Amino acid sequence: MRETLAVLGGSPVREHKISYGRQWIDEEDVKAVSETLLGDYLTCGPKVEELEKELCKLTGAKHAVAVSNGTAALHCACIAAGIGPGDEVITTPITFAASANCALYCGAVPVFADIRKETYNIDPDSIRAHITPRTKAIVAVDFTGQAVEADEIRQICEEYGLIFIEDGAHSIATAYKGRQVGSFADMTTFSFHPVKTITGGEGGAILTNDDDLYRKLVLAHSHGITKDPELMEEAPHEGPWYYEQVSLGYNYRLTDIQASLLLSQMKKLPMFRDRRKAIVARYDEAFSEMPEIIVQKEIPESDTCRHLYIIRLNPDRLRCTRREFFDAMSAENVQCQIHYIPVYWFPYYKRLGYEPGLCPAAEEVYKGIVTIPLYPKMTDEDVEDVIHAVKKVVEYYRIEE
Ligand SMILES: *Cc1c(COP(=O)(O)O)cnc(C)c1O
Repeated sequence: MRETLAVLGGSPVREHKISYGRQWIDEEDVKAVSETLLGDYLTCGPKVEELEKELCKLTGAKHAVAVSNGTAALHCACIAAGIGPGDEVITTPITFAASANCALYCGAVPVFADIRKETYNIDPDSIRAHITPRTKAIVAVDFTGQAVEADEIRQICEEYGLIFIEDGAHSIATAYKGRQVGSFADMTTFSFHPVKTITGGEGGAILTNDDDLYRKLVLAHSHGITKDPELMEEAPHEGPWYYEQVSLGYNYRLTDIQASLLLSQMKKLPMFRDRRKAIVARYDEAFSEMPEIIVQKEIPESDTCRHLYIIRLNPDRLRCTRREFFDAMSAENVQCQIHYIPVYWFPYYKRLGYEPGLCPAAEEVYKGIVTIPLYPKMTDEDVEDVIHAVKKVVEYYRIEE
């Protein structure tokens, strides 16, 4: 059965709808989760510890703290960075809202720096232009999986004494100058939501090389409570049951059930990365030949495991709106998505006083971007269908020179 109206007429390129992203769960994953479910620990057990070790091994970071989701990871990072009322945190508007909300959780003010029009990542020059005496940290997002310009950002952080938080929700398995994401920022956060590269259903983690930040992260994600005598303030050692709450923390723990799923997913990560790279290479080849489509540019320093594939409509070559393009793709049974609406356009941010026009490059890029399907389970035929659908829509709306 054909599911949708065909906007452009004729039969749709695909018979069944393809979505923009989808998890890969197999029997190995199911087995790993079942074993944990029937074991001794559902939370606070050995699987969480094992996951943290594997994340350190993968990234080269000294410490990892597994948490309940990527948003909790960002919140913990801001707490560990000591961000509080009166502070400013610079981030990008082209991201999921959590990258900015984490500053608000701590009573600080998110400040939006503009993006580069070619890479869609935060522009280090714009970061510089937004620094004030109140700036405390930078939350730089590896948008679509491409690493940010980390050396430039590190330089700025050193000059002004800022903390470099890398939101790596999109970029697990990406390397920058040969170093894995997770190993070079002061703190790097991951998300394991099902649309991300590996999933625990929900889940997240923070990576750091700094012992002091690590101690603060551990406290922040579990009530500010410790049983470690070195972290205790009074520690009279009444008995083996003794513990202390030494700061205000949250319950942001990951379960062992999720950790066992993630450990199983991590075994497939090299395969996921290779498959994502192969699909991206095929898309790049197909769309580079089409002047109606602008392909995301990559900096040579980033060896990218792409989470999202975004095409940008060239307004000089297409007579359709982005909405018309999106609807036409949908009618071809290719479900697209838009990543992201500039964060400060949301009503909540407007009420806080942010106004449209803050980041002109971000707003211009936003108007033309469309996310097309990318996930490792896509077959070669799926990939060709998506390319075919883009071609069909582009040919229909093309402006002849
Ligand atoms: C998904 C995402 C988050 C939040 O992660 P959750 O696990 O959904 O809480 C943060 N930042 C970016 C860039 C994301 O894409």
